[in-house]
Amino acid sequence: MTNPLEGIRSIRDLPIDNRRVFLRVDFNVPADGKKITDDSRIRSALPTIQHALERGARVICASHFGRPKKGPDPKYSLEPCAARLAELLGKDVAFPEDCIGDAAKKVVADLRTGHACLLENLRFHPEEEKNDEAFCRQLADLADVYVDDAFGSVHRAHASVYGVAKLFRGRGCGFLLEKEIASLGKIVESPDLPYVAVLGGAKVSDKIAVVEALLERVTALVIGGAMANTFLAAQGRNMQASLVEADKLPLARTIIEKAQGKGVALLLPQDVVVATGPDAATGQIVNVDAVPAATMALDIGPKSIAEFCRHFATAKTIFWNGPMGFFEKAPFSTGTFAIARAMADAPGFTVVGGGDSAAAVYVAGAGVAEKIKHISTGGGASLELIEGKKLPGIEVLRGSEGK
Ligand code: ADP
Ligand code: MG
Repeated sequence: MTNPLEGIRSIRDLPIDNRRVFLRVDFNVPADGKKITDDSRIRSALPTIQHALERGARVICASHFGRPKKGPDPKYSLEPCAARLAELLGKDVAFPEDCIGDAAKKVVADLRTGHACLLENLRFHPEEEKNDEAFCRQLADLADVYVDDAFGSVHRAHASVYGVAKLFRGRGCGFLLEKEIASLGKIVESPDLPYVAVLGGAKVSDKIAVVEALLERVTALVIGGAMANTFLAAQGRNMQASLVEADKLPLARTIIEKAQGKGVALLLPQDVVVATGPDAATGQIVNVDAVPAATMALDIGPKSIAEFCRHFATAKTIFWNGPMGFFEKAPFSTGTFAIARAMADAPGFTVVGGGDSAAAVYVAGAGVAEKIKHISTGGGASLELIEGKKLPGIEVLRGSEGK
């Protein structure tokens, strides 16, 4: 398949005019009690919602929020999101106290064309995560058309992203999901070469499948962050107090050999920033062969930054996942922010995936995020796509069975 969107209808092409549209959004926003601390997920859903409203649809937004374990829990209510959405849209957003049952049915029946409601947290029903058939049917009965715009959830076969979608003949993706599938699909299926992948983050063990998949496609694989420590240790370097996954040394050696066998350039840091711990006020730049006793590598050094970024100028595709260091603390953020800025300035097709990496891009400096071609909103989902997996919430949109 060369077109990753093959068989998936866009909201542009769905019969939504004057219809009831079930819109799966991702309003799982960061919050402090009832206060939303970052509303970007709500804002990013606006183009899809507004498009539907302008076409006279009645939009039934549905989302999960947090991980309520024992049914309804006011702590995990989506009410603050409904209020915020109303402010952003400049119109009322009805909010039934439950996503199914009489409350939901009444709100939907009363919904005027060109208006939206937000259902209460889907996960107040354990049936959501179990993809329970009866629950799916109750949700599906609320609407005529199904649209998914919640990329962060498409790797899970939960009711609202999978079972519910199947019950609609008219189903497709919103603008956010469309861009995710097109951008990530492009670099999985037909990346333009040279292709440079930059991996970092906390652990090799989190990313084994990603590394394996990338080795099949990339020209160069750059490894930084704590993940690089394990590779450096596998090459016989003494990483002292650094985070090293001792049980993954053989795996790191296998990956190094595989890369050689495939002619993939594997780049590791030459220098690192070390300190006695993440709370240290400053770090010291050392060669990877000379990590002082009782210190740990918490960032990549300037030589590594220059070497890594040198490959960006000629790359036609760059994918980045995983910070280059303990970027949450200023003395160790240089490498991560430098990679983010270099990606912004790179001429190729640049994609960032992963929750922490995306967060780093937004704080890396003015204009950085805007210049990166695609910043994925789905941590787990983006990595699973990169691994080459078929994701249930995407594949279900290609099918045509349904009501
Ligand atoms: P993503 O969410 O983008 O996939 P990960 O979750 O894999 O990224 O990794 C992010 C975490 O890795 C961050 O919390 C960062 O502080 C940590 N990290 C990166 N490099 C190091 C390092 N050298 N030492 C300790 N922690 C590190
Ligand atoms: Mg993470």
